Amino acid sequence: MLAFPQDGLSRDEVLASLDEYRAADGDWQGGKTWSLVYYAGEEITQLAEDAYRKYFHTNALNPFVFQSLKRLETETLSMVASLFHGDDDTVGSLTSGGSESILMALKTYRDEARVLHPEITEPEVVLPISAHAAFEKAAHYFGLKLIHAPLADDYRVDIAAVESLITPNTILLVGSTPQYPHGVIDPIEELGALALKHGLRLHVDACLGGFTLPFVRELGGEVPPFDFAVPGVTSISADLHKYAFAAKGVSALLYRNADIRKFQYFAYGNWPGGLFISPSATGTRPGGAIASAWAALKFIGQKGYLEITQSILDTTKKLVDGINAIDELYVLGEPPAGIFAFASDTLNVHALADILEHKGWVIDQQVNPSNLHFMVTPAHAGVEEPFLRDLRESVEILKAHPEDFAAGSAALYGMSAAIPDPGIVNQFIKEAYSRFMTLGGEFSFEGLV
Ligand SMILES: *Cc1c(COP(=O)(O)O)cnc(C)c1O
Repeated sequence: MLAFPQDGLSRDEVLASLDEYRAADGDWQGGKTWSLVYYAGEEITQLAEDAYRKYFHTNALNPFVFQSLKRLETETLSMVASLFHGDDDTVGSLTSGGSESILMALKTYRDEARVLHPEITEPEVVLPISAHAAFEKAAHYFGLKLIHAPLADDYRVDIAAVESLITPNTILLVGSTPQYPHGVIDPIEELGALALKHGLRLHVDACLGGFTLPFVRELGGEVPPFDFAVPGVTSISADLHKYAFAAKGVSALLYRNADIRKFQYFAYGNWPGGLFISPSATGTRPGGAIASAWAALKFIGQKGYLEITQSILDTTKKLVDGINAIDELYVLGEPPAGIFAFASDTLNVHALADILEHKGWVIDQQVNPSNLHFMVTPAHAGVEEPFLRDLRESVEILKAHPEDFAAGSAALYGMSAAIPDPGIVNQFIKEAYSRFMTLGGEFSFEGLV
């Protein structure tokens, strides 16, 4: 057990310790990580940090006290709405991230359905199996039933399957632009038509693509309509802390109009602490994150985002072509915006991931089918060749000595795939994570299986 500090350390000692602690973390600035951090260079980062610092102490829980935060929030939402073909009716909230945006959207539609469709006692949401896990969390928290639609061969949701899964209990459809696992865009126009035909709401999860897809389209890429231009779309989530390059802790959740948004709000007028109103899940809302989002949009602007997006597309093309040129590997589907995954029919990609990790890369692994996942940012411009070289080498190493890499990730993923009951897998994951999140703890399924 770590003793509670008695005399405080000096400022220099504290900061030096932090530098020491983080020295072995994933090297996101050097482009060795492929998720978690979205880095567009020091100039933008410094600006976002400076904006954050100016609002370090502020709290958007009470926008009456911090009128400037109300202004920054509504201006940010308005700028995002105009990017998504919103109009003067479009409203929203800034939340702490994509998960909170999704949590709030599902709560909103649940509460709306309670009023508009009191006959529905067990509300259902039809969503692609590729929708982000935050929807599972939201359904778990808010008592909604998720009905999972399969994907078509191109990894976009199978629209006929979606329609067949709609029942009198359905309140909401979901599509993602792009979806996280394979980076492809669900058919939002078709989902919108289904939503209108069946009197349903439609949430578009643009957490990942909100600040790239509009620019991909502008640059001549094939991006079908996915926003409020599509009839039937009633809300959109878009993460400012991803490809908009704001500080962590800010996402936009937009609704077609305030009649829908009002179901998101929580108010409690009987509290001895005063009239309480909170727009979303958190109480205190860091003003710094909001200021950094506003600052990033204002500073980078349309022209800057176009340049950034072009860089992402160029890097992605080099990577995808290089991967597809390796006999044993192939990229899944035709992802349009810098998010992609590759698989192999002959090699265990989990073992391949371990070899790449030995070479200093941080690799994200996925399942069904097993594949490796990549999200390209401006930090990856220039790492294409070093990465592809290491990848080609890793493939050769694995082909020569597959038995050397049977433990590690291959064993972990193999084990979880062999357990037929997903509830048991979830239990194992929680148990292993709980062990890990202790002083010096390790993540392993040892003793559980
Ligand atoms: C990242 C992401 C989320 C969740 O956002 P967080 O900011 O991590 O909470 C939801 N949907 C998609 C498609 C995402 O990529």
